[in-house]
Amino acid sequence: MKYINTKDFSEKVSFRQATLQGLASQKGLFVPESLPKLTSSFFDTIEQLSDIEIAYEAIFPFVKDSLTEVQLRTILEGTLSFLIPVVAIQENIFTLELFHGPTQAFKDVGVRFMARCFSQFVDKENEVTVLVATSGDTGSAVAHGFFEVEGVQAKVLFPKGKISPYQEYQITSLGKNIQAIEVEGTFDDCQTLVKQAFSDVALNKKIPLTSANSINIARLLPQMIYYFLAYKQLKHKLNNKKWLVSVPSGNFGNLTAGLYAKKMGLPVEQFIAATNANDTFLKYWETGVYNPKPSIPTYSNAMDVGAPSNFERMMYLYQQAHEVLKKDILADSRSDEHTLTEMKSIYKKYNYMLDPHGAVGLLALKKYLEEDSIGLFLETAHPKKFETVVKKAIPGFDTTTVNLAYCQKTSIPNRYTDFLEVLTS
Ligand SMILES: *Cc1c(COP(=O)(O)O)cnc(C)c1O
Repeated sequence: MKYINTKDFSEKVSFRQATLQGLASQKGLFVPESLPKLTSSFFDTIEQLSDIEIAYEAIFPFVKDSLTEVQLRTILEGTLSFLIPVVAIQENIFTLELFHGPTQAFKDVGVRFMARCFSQFVDKENEVTVLVATSGDTGSAVAHGFFEVEGVQAKVLFPKGKISPYQEYQITSLGKNIQAIEVEGTFDDCQTLVKQAFSDVALNKKIPLTSANSINIARLLPQMIYYFLAYKQLKHKLNNKKWLVSVPSGNFGNLTAGLYAKKMGLPVEQFIAATNANDTFLKYWETGVYNPKPSIPTYSNAMDVGAPSNFERMMYLYQQAHEVLKKDILADSRSDEHTLTEMKSIYKKYNYMLDPHGAVGLLALKKYLEEDSIGLFLETAHPKKFETVVKKAIPGFDTTTVNLAYCQKTSIPNRYTDFLEVLTS
């Protein structure tokens, strides 16, 4: 399997190359050149297969020129070391809980897989430095995913005082090959420092730098796995009923992975792109015109994206055909007010605490779900990660507080020369 650059179809690289490079030339994204169909016996017997076996069947075609069967199995066992359960909320509504990993968000799956691929592709002699700027969830997942991975040094930049104490704890509590760098500035300042480092030719000669950004194909592909795991758990409820899956979306990596799984044969009738007030995709869906805009802050802040980076991969998948895309995808956008009301009402009725992202997903699902269909929405993070919003919905809800006493971080002003000194010392 080769990977094609969305900006230049003549650029074709291996899985290894696409993973190490991250971004293709001219800021294009790498996409798989084809999406192989899984056999009908795979779907017929899925409930008898182990999770690792399911993941192996889904992923091996995409990596077989770069990883051996044994290497892939080792990577998958390391990646899927926590539960990914389907939980019933109502008669025909279920949630896929993706928050049982080390940093309580679905990003753990993609990052753990990518980190383990890196460890196969680099070694002590060819060490690489992973740079990432974070507004919260990505940094936590990257720090934990790359922790103690040989041949990788990770530097996580975060804006001082602008991420939650729990997220800061997750980034700063590890040490070893993970360096937490607190910048006196905003998330955009952190991002600018990282970009400057990537374009610093002298620095890149000295230390090979790479990104752990969500556009990396090695983070996207493993996200297909849990859609198949959901099918395994839900199959006995489906019996030829229509199956709708609602995906709380920001950069649309999760949804793109779901669409790939559908092309491979997963019997989802339609996906629902659930967004908050950042409704760029909904507007495209309604009009066929894509008009990216600056992001608006909301309660479901991991989805505050005005120019979704994976939109380009979706366009490639549907060959720019708006009407064809609409056959597979429905869309909805919900306000903070709706989100909070839904969190309250589901907690009161079913004693289930949604996180704000999951709440957006559930609202969108209910908009489209018909009585004799089965609906699934993704719970992308644990509610405790968003304690301020959770406390607004249910004041008495117990959210853990953390002790930041053991944290290790390097603090720098928002200045490239200071950042360079940290990188090269
Ligand atoms: C990153 C994130 C999202 C958005 O996922 P995309 O793949 O970027 O659409 C949704 N919810 C949570 C909790 C996240 O951390």
